[in-house]
Amino acid sequence: ETHNASQLLSPHNARNLFDSVDAFLFDCDGVIWKGDSLIDGVPETLEMLRSKGKKLVFVTNNSTKSTRQYANKFSSLGITVTEDEIFSSSLAAAMFLKVNGFPREKKVYVLGEEGILEELELAGFTGVGGPEDGTKTVQLKPNSLFEHDKSVGAVVVGLDQYVNYYKLQYGTLCIRENPGCLFIGTNRDAVGHMTDLQEWPGAGCMVAAICGSTQKEPIVVGKPSTFMMDFLLQKFLISTTRMCMVGDRLDTDILFGQNAGCKTLLVFSGVTTQSTLEDPSNDIRPDYYTSKVSGVLNLLEF
Ligand code: PLP
Ligand code: CA
Repeated sequence: ETHNASQLLSPHNARNLFDSVDAFLFDCDGVIWKGDSLIDGVPETLEMLRSKGKKLVFVTNNSTKSTRQYANKFSSLGITVTEDEIFSSSLAAAMFLKVNGFPREKKVYVLGEEGILEELELAGFTGVGGPEDGTKTVQLKPNSLFEHDKSVGAVVVGLDQYVNYYKLQYGTLCIRENPGCLFIGTNRDAVGHMTDLQEWPGAGCMVAAICGSTQKEPIVVGKPSTFMMDFLLQKFLISTTRMCMVGDRLDTDILFGQNAGCKTLLVFSGVTTQSTLEDPSNDIRPDYYTSKVSGVLNLLEF
């Protein structure tokens, strides 16, 4: 599939975009915030869009928090967003299991953080592992077996600041030895803004570790997978042709929007620069691009 050249957002096409969509889907990191710092002009822009009747939805690949924890994060940054407007890859992992009828009596091993555990629990599943396993160590000695729970039927891998060899062995054994065990990756982002100033390894490397040890490919539920989109479309009756996905990453956000037939707007407030967009090796072209979300506010006149 080829896409036409991207257009710099201008007063004219900003107006066209605004008039042709009913919902804006916002990626979070690099668009709304960077780490824990709000990107400037965001509250005013969101407020304007809401006041004009646009539906706002927030979609993040960062699995470390639950949607409840994200609602609190928005609130602490002075933005009112309700939990049902937030779609995180942690929620997507739990909803994937639910939609696919994952048996309640089986357990889910979490190579990830609190957000995944919380969403699993809210969905009625038993999560094990998680941050607590970050304190566990392995002793490699002869004539001893590393034990794992045979009732684990799925391993969910997301970003884990507490990753260690114990967890890698646990997840690997479940996938290799428990019949039919699912391998779910929340997302495969290479890096993420753990702080405002610096990128750190993302869930991609945790997922890759388990791919390496199991020689299996994960089911990815976050962006750019269509699972997250299908799930959110069931909640909001809006046609994807009347939606605009706003993101800072080409291979997650913009692809996610394009896969679903949404209009797409790339912002340069995150990981992508104009030269990356224009690089001949890049074949993901958003419909529009602008410096940051407040570009939409500044270009529109009412
Ligand atoms: N995963 C991790 C660990 C992150 O730190 C980030 C951004 O900070 C992301 C994923 C990407 O999040 P988003 O989809 O909101 O850009
Ligand atoms: Ca992002």
